[in-house]
Amino acid sequence: IYSSTVEQVATGFRWAEGPVYFPKGGYLLFSDIPNNRIMKFDEATGKTTVYRDKANYANGNARDRQGRLVTCEHSVTRRVTRTEHNGKITVLADSFEGKRLNAPNDIVVKSDDTIWFTDPEYGLKTNPETKRKEGKEQPGNFVYRHDPRTGRTTAVARDFDQPNGLAFSPDERRLYVADSGKPRHIRVFDVAADGTLAGGTVFCAIDKGGPDGIRVDATGRVWSSTGDGVQVFGTDGRRVGRILLPEAAANLCFGGEDGRTLFMTARTSLYSVRTAVGGAGR
Ligand code: MG
Repeated sequence: IYSSTVEQVATGFRWAEGPVYFPKGGYLLFSDIPNNRIMKFDEATGKTTVYRDKANYANGNARDRQGRLVTCEHSVTRRVTRTEHNGKITVLADSFEGKRLNAPNDIVVKSDDTIWFTDPEYGLKTNPETKRKEGKEQPGNFVYRHDPRTGRTTAVARDFDQPNGLAFSPDERRLYVADSGKPRHIRVFDVAADGTLAGGTVFCAIDKGGPDGIRVDATGRVWSSTGDGVQVFGTDGRRVGRILLPEAAANLCFGGEDGRTLFMTARTSLYSVRTAVGGAGR
């Protein structure tokens, strides 16, 4: 029997999103989108400070194999960036086939260093700086794969309503992608060695709100943020657990010294809970 208590570790945000844990340093970064900043929660001190102001409405974040931060900036700049060890920001992708991206939302890095991200429309509404409506240039809302070696960005799935969170299975042969638009479900794809996808059937549906951020644990289970917290699904797509939160969750990630703390960004707060397993691909 394993039981654990949910803890509110920080609060005072407007829309917390995109958590990513850095084992080297023992801290979590996450976005506070409407406040246009990235926050840093330091585990040792328990303090939360501003990591980056004027963050171009950063949304999803991830860590690459070299320990660098990669970020989806979902409004104004509408691009995917990498923060180098010296703090310099490199733009990885801001367009596809000569047209601007919509609003990069969430991101994951594969062990071959390729960067996979989703591009729904959520950030396109009104430019918070110019107060003007942002124009959509892409013909759809795609899932992309970016190869930092060649600089090439490829669309790997084009049939989503609003693609959102994405995560690989522990062996990286499967890719799960949430659709938080009309379908409100998670789909599963087979990942080929050349980086193309096949399949794409519905893996599970979310019964409270929609799926936003998702993560896979070391045993292959899929953890999804939902309207009532977090729901956990077995590899067969059947729901095996729920974590209820006082606020709707937008995203989650595994972290902590042993990788078995689950951090959940939910509206105004950051929550954590100890878990029996850690994340995949740690
Ligand atoms: Mg998202």
